[in-house]
Amino acid sequence: MRAVDDTLLTVIVVLGLTSAASWAMAGAGWRLAPQASYRFAVANVCIALGVALVVQRTDAPNFWYFQFSDWLVLGGLVVFRGGIQRMLRVGHAPWYWQAIPLVVAVLATAWVEPSLSSSFVLGLAFSAVAAWVALDATRWCFAGLSAAGFSRRIAALISAPFIFVGVTMVLRLVQIGLDYQVPQMPATNAAGEASFATFLWVMLFLMLVINLTLGALLVIRLLLRIRKLAERDHLTGCWNRGSLEARLQVEYDRNRRSGEHLSCVFLDVDHFKKVNDGRGHQAGDAALLHTAKLLVEQLREMDTVGRYGGEEFVVLLPGTHLTGAREVAEKLRKALEANPVRFKDDTFSITASFGVASLTGNESQEGFLQRADAAMYQAKQSGRNRVETAP
Ligand code: GH3
Ligand code: MG
Ligand code: MG
Repeated sequence: MRAVDDTLLTVIVVLGLTSAASWAMAGAGWRLAPQASYRFAVANVCIALGVALVVQRTDAPNFWYFQFSDWLVLGGLVVFRGGIQRMLRVGHAPWYWQAIPLVVAVLATAWVEPSLSSSFVLGLAFSAVAAWVALDATRWCFAGLSAAGFSRRIAALISAPFIFVGVTMVLRLVQIGLDYQVPQMPATNAAGEASFATFLWVMLFLMLVINLTLGALLVIRLLLRIRKLAERDHLTGCWNRGSLEARLQVEYDRNRRSGEHLSCVFLDVDHFKKVNDGRGHQAGDAALLHTAKLLVEQLREMDTVGRYGGEEFVVLLPGTHLTGAREVAEKLRKALEANPVRFKDDTFSITASFGVASLTGNESQEGFLQRADAAMYQAKQSGRNRVETAP
């Protein structure tokens, strides 16, 4: 090996090990996406070690420097992909499914002579499997980011390094297929000096870019978690009071601008105290979660379901007039009545009282909510489990 190879290899190994240490610390020390972070740590070690073995290749046959080194690098890619799925919480399969590409690579190359004479088979298997894993990782990265609410452009930008690896490997595959030969490693120059420089530069670049991208993914995940904590109700997962008021402001302004209808439904679970007192607070919590889920299931994507307080929820219905909102409330009431809460071995029914109001003339937001609340109170007075409309 030439001096430049030595230096590059040292940089790669140091980069791999420090990245691995950072990921391990993020997972174990700070509990940041531990399942994903541990995988990234292992993947970095596998790849750094694999690269360190590849560059030991000479004319002499050696299993560790030929097959095993390739398997290590591919194993690293497989583990990276699993980590991405964990990080973004998309499509994680059990480890033995995840390992299939690696098994294919092992089966395809285990039987060949571990030397330069097998470059064709080794190169073909490595490129095909690396392309497979990298393109699959791209798909999951893109899907996970899209599901988390990122625009297609941002999702594509963050997935770019993986698609780059995938496409590079496909091109290499095509090149090997067409020429029936593999770019020789080590490459020799006119003076007969063997060098792995190109390979090492590419690996260095990839490790840097992939680790940086994954670091960005970790930050994104943290930001998403913080946003969720700030916007959502901890128990039911629906919007909390603050977000509900923010959404009301947006819909209110839209109504003022364009005159589009805006209605709201205020609902309060009936005799909820009895659930808590009779079955315990955990059963009460389960009933609240059940109610929130049911509301979300029954409503349109554009509607807002928020927890106003204890066992009170508010539903905002943009583009809906009073009669329509009354029908929606009736549908919700029936759904709640018809679907009992299941908690441990216990099954019990709950109902709620509903008040409906539609935003009028120059009414304030508070006045609007207050009218719905008053209608709900009216429903309680009239015997509960019913819908009342604000005048
Ligand atoms: P009504 O039909 O008149 O609405 O009677 P109610 O028993 O539902 O009304 P009340 O306001 O007397 O009781 C509401 C109860 O909701 C009291 C409170 O302890 C309970 N509660 C509020 N928040 C939570 C919560 O997060 N979890 C549980 N389990 N209970 C809660
Ligand atoms: Mg109440
Ligand atoms: Mg109540």
